[in-house]
Amino acid sequence: MLFQKHNIIVLTLISLFLNTKSLAQEGINANTFYKHDKYLSSDKMEGRFPGTKQNNKAAKYIKKYFKKNDLSSYDNSYYQPFKLFVKADINKMISDTVITQNVVGYIEGSDSVSKKEFIVIGAHYDHWGWGGQGSGSKRKDTIAIHNGADDNASGVAALLSILEEISHLKTKPKRSIIFIAFSGEEQGLIGSNYFVNHLPVSKEKVKLMINMDMVGRLNANKHLYMGGAGTFPDGVALMKELGNNTGLNLIVHAGEVGGSDHVSFYKKNISSIGFHTGGHPQYHTPEDDIDLINSEGGAIVSKYIFNALLRIANYDQPLYFINQD
Ligand SMILES: [Zn+2]
Repeated sequence: MLFQKHNIIVLTLISLFLNTKSLAQEGINANTFYKHDKYLSSDKMEGRFPGTKQNNKAAKYIKKYFKKNDLSSYDNSYYQPFKLFVKADINKMISDTVITQNVVGYIEGSDSVSKKEFIVIGAHYDHWGWGGQGSGSKRKDTIAIHNGADDNASGVAALLSILEEISHLKTKPKRSIIFIAFSGEEQGLIGSNYFVNHLPVSKEKVKLMINMDMVGRLNANKHLYMGGAGTFPDGVALMKELGNNTGLNLIVHAGEVGGSDHVSFYKKNISSIGFHTGGHPQYHTPEDDIDLINSEGGAIVSKYIFNALLRIANYDQPLYFINQD
């Protein structure tokens, strides 16, 4: 009798310990999503314009989490620097050629054969700085910080949340995964173009690119939009199936690849899928701020994309490009 009671106490203690542990290890949650988005979209980041020290500071923040979550680097650097020409009247600048950088790292796959293939997952971290006449701001007359909490601190928040969750997996996915945060997206997909033209692995081995651009404003109808689901085998069916029991309302396009960094890959005949939670009045204005971010929604979206990434990285069937033009 006494022994049994003792056993129950021990079991209770063990289960309490396990519960706390699993909670602490939960990589994808609203708090984590909010933390990353808030940091990147705070005023001190001044809209993360390429070539500024605030853009470099954002890169450094991303690199910190790449390292912390065990990503390996190429050529001993997580930075892939590139040049970018900035026209006058953007971000209070005169015309100038600046240097900015993509932030890149990878996880080696767990299967000796499949690990030679790569899935790329990414999001751009740059934005319009202080805006201005030459910028893509919708308020060109207003010189003010464009924080870009949705565009695209939210995509980076999702990227870092997904990475943290992957780092907790005991068995890594079969295929290798490259994580990348792009710069120069707003100027015309400059960073992703540079990456595709300077790949650290052979182009034929890059099997899919997953992009997240503006995923922080999940609406009341829980609409998650995706373009390019039909660019890899059985993609549309897979993406729909993964929506079961998520509460998400998926809008799955086989084609309509979209207008963000994954297009750079698609143009090179690499399967590409892009995610977003829809447009809003604060798009490319100084009002795209953290207080309008739905971080619970961001976590749900991140979890969905994490599951998609896992399934595709472990796909039994061969992955190949399907043109949707
Ligand atoms: Zn934008």
